[in-house]
Amino acid sequence: MIGEIRKIGVIGAGQMGNGIAQVCAAAGFEVLLNDLTEEKINAGLATINGHMARMVARGQMTEDHRKDALARIQPAAGFADFGDADLIIEAATENEGAKRKIFQALCPNLKPTAVLASNTSSISITRLASVSDRPEHFIGIHFMNPVPRMQLVELIRGIATEDETFDAAKAFVAKLGKTVTVSEDFPAFIVNRVLMPMINEAIYTLYEGVGSVDSIDTAMKLGANHPMGPLQLADFIGLDTCLSVMQVLHEGLADSKYRPCPLLVKYVEAGWLGRKTNRGFYDYRGEHPVPTR
Ligand code: NAD
Repeated sequence: MIGEIRKIGVIGAGQMGNGIAQVCAAAGFEVLLNDLTEEKINAGLATINGHMARMVARGQMTEDHRKDALARIQPAAGFADFGDADLIIEAATENEGAKRKIFQALCPNLKPTAVLASNTSSISITRLASVSDRPEHFIGIHFMNPVPRMQLVELIRGIATEDETFDAAKAFVAKLGKTVTVSEDFPAFIVNRVLMPMINEAIYTLYEGVGSVDSIDTAMKLGANHPMGPLQLADFIGLDTCLSVMQVLHEGLADSKYRPCPLLVKYVEAGWLGRKTNRGFYDYRGEHPVPTR
C-alpha cells in the first residue's frame, strides 16, 4: 500500500531536478535534493533561490511563501538520506546505464511503500523499473522544461506499474497544479517522439546548408508561429539530451528516419551542449546570443 506522499526525493540538481524541487517545495512538499557533488547540489539550490526571488519581484510569490518553500528543501549528499522519502523522482543525466546504477544503489535505502519515478525524456520505463526492487511502484513522471512555467506532465506506466502507483502520481501532479497527459511506454513517449525529430530535421537543414541558424529559427518562429526557433529550443533543452533522445528513438524503433544528425553529434563531442555550457547553436558568452554557424 502506498501511503500519503509528503516527502519527495529528487536525484539530479540540474535544470530539471532543481525545477522539480522548486515546484514541489512551493506546493508544500518536503524535498530532498541530491546530485553527484555538494557543489552541484548547492548550484541547484542557488538557482531555485534566484528563480523564487524573481517570482517575488514580479509579484508571483510572497516573500513568506519563498522563505517557507526554501526551508522545505534539504540537500541530500547520499541515498542513505532517502529512507523516509515517499516519492523519489530521478532527474539525472539522460543515460540509461547511469540511471540503472542509480536505481540499483537507491532501492536498498528506501522504505517498502516508497514510489519510484523517472523524469527520463525517452528511456523505457519498463526497462528502468526492471532493475528496481518494485516495478509495480515505478512510473514515468516526465516534466517539461522549464518546470515552474510549463503546464504539462506526461505520465508513463511501465508494464508492471499498478493502478495505485498511477493514481498516486496523478494526485501528486494535481497538487502541483499541473495537467497530466498519459503516454504508453514507447521510445520518447509523446512529446519527444514528435518534437525531437523536428529539432533533428532543423539540424539537418543547417548541416546541409539549406539555411543558417538565424534563417532556420526565424523561419519556424515567424512561419510556423513557434515561440522559439528549433535550434534555440535545442540549446535550451541541452544538445546532449537531444542526442540521447534521438539515439533512443533510432535504436528503439529501428527506423533510419530517426538517425541523429552528424552535426548534432559533433556539437556534443565538442562539449557545446547549449545554454548549460554557454555555447551550442548560439554562443551565450556575450551580452546577446550569437549564432555559431
Ligand atoms: P542536466 O545536465 O541539467 O542535469 C543532470 C544532473 O544529473 C547533473 O547535475 C548531473 O550532475 C546529475 N547526475 C548525473 N549522474 C548522477 C548520479 N549518479 N546521481 C546524482 N546526480 C547525477 O540535465 P537535465 O536537462 O536536468 O535532464 C535531466 C533529466 O531530465 C534527463 O533524464 C532528461 O532527459 C530529462 N528531461 C530533460 C528536459 C530538458 O528539456 N532538458 C525535459 C524533460 C526531461
